[in-house]
Amino acid sequence: MIDLRSDTVTRPTKGMIEAMMKAKTGDDVFGEDPTVNELQERLASEFAQEAGLFCPSGTMTNQIAINVHTRPGDEVICDRLSHIYNYEGGGIARNSGCSVRLLNGERGRFGVEAVKSNINPSDSHYSRTSLVCIEDTVNKAGGAVYDFEQIKALSSFCKTLELPFHLDGARVVNALLENGVDWKTYGGQFDSISVCLSKGLGTPGGSVLLGSRDFIKEAHRTRKVMGGGMRQVGILAAAGLYALDHNVERMREDHQRARQLGKSLSDLSWVSQVEDVDTNIVIFKLREGLLAVDCMEALKKEDIFALPFGIDQMRFVTHLDYSESDLNATIEALNRLKF
Ligand SMILES: *Cc1c(COP(=O)(O)O)cnc(C)c1O
Repeated sequence: MIDLRSDTVTRPTKGMIEAMMKAKTGDDVFGEDPTVNELQERLASEFAQEAGLFCPSGTMTNQIAINVHTRPGDEVICDRLSHIYNYEGGGIARNSGCSVRLLNGERGRFGVEAVKSNINPSDSHYSRTSLVCIEDTVNKAGGAVYDFEQIKALSSFCKTLELPFHLDGARVVNALLENGVDWKTYGGQFDSISVCLSKGLGTPGGSVLLGSRDFIKEAHRTRKVMGGGMRQVGILAAAGLYALDHNVERMREDHQRARQLGKSLSDLSWVSQVEDVDTNIVIFKLREGLLAVDCMEALKKEDIFALPFGIDQMRFVTHLDYSESDLNATIEALNRLKF
């Protein structure tokens, strides 16, 4: 089976499992798991933040961040394609009682002008604008990477207004491999960052929330409230540390393979358009009249699994378990398919 549904489908490698088996553990709710502490400190330091908090998922790290940065009735600014708005179960409203101001960015990316014109006046008629969130890379825009100059401008603008600036960095490592920016310089732009270990990095689970010491202290309380406190979870943190040592540079191969898929797709008569391939996600539109579900079924018969991304769009995501021979087999199958 060739699985292009998501970069979350990877299984831990032998080396990763060995690292997990050797992990020193303790009760992380008491802050006593040495491996969790090491992972939190390492990521905080790599992204120029003071502290980190290990959580079960990227949804939780984002939702905790939103909760800590806001009060009920406040408003969060984000792009209309953002994961926090589309794919977190309405959590912004449900967990934090906030409304959302959606921006119509360019492939999920927006600049200072868009934020400026969407901040509410400080007048009691309006909700209080209290958070700006960006996503890098942008999942729903096919793994689009932000221009770092744009991030810097957003960061300094938010700083002047004392408006917290959060990064949904589920795929931040993919972004950093492409924009070439130093991790500390990049990380230092944000008030909080969510980093996923279970996407390109290939661990079985876990995300880390980064921020100031005070922010993380509050986040620890919110994690408890949300039921995300885990105990001897060093076994999972060990997978994260292993991934940071072994799986970062390797992700360039995912980008390369995604580009090759994009190129092959653009030659097919039944594909009408392929989004730019910046990282490890390929989104393509089908020829008029061809439905994504039918394309999905046809691919399934070739033992290739992929997800529809709208009625007439499909998404391929490359990852650790998508090898060069899988790529060749996919390209052959794509060329064989007739609609
Ligand atoms: C996957 C993802 C998340 C977090 O998802 P979980 O499945 O909860 O870990 C957050 N943001 C983006 C952009 C994602 O792709």
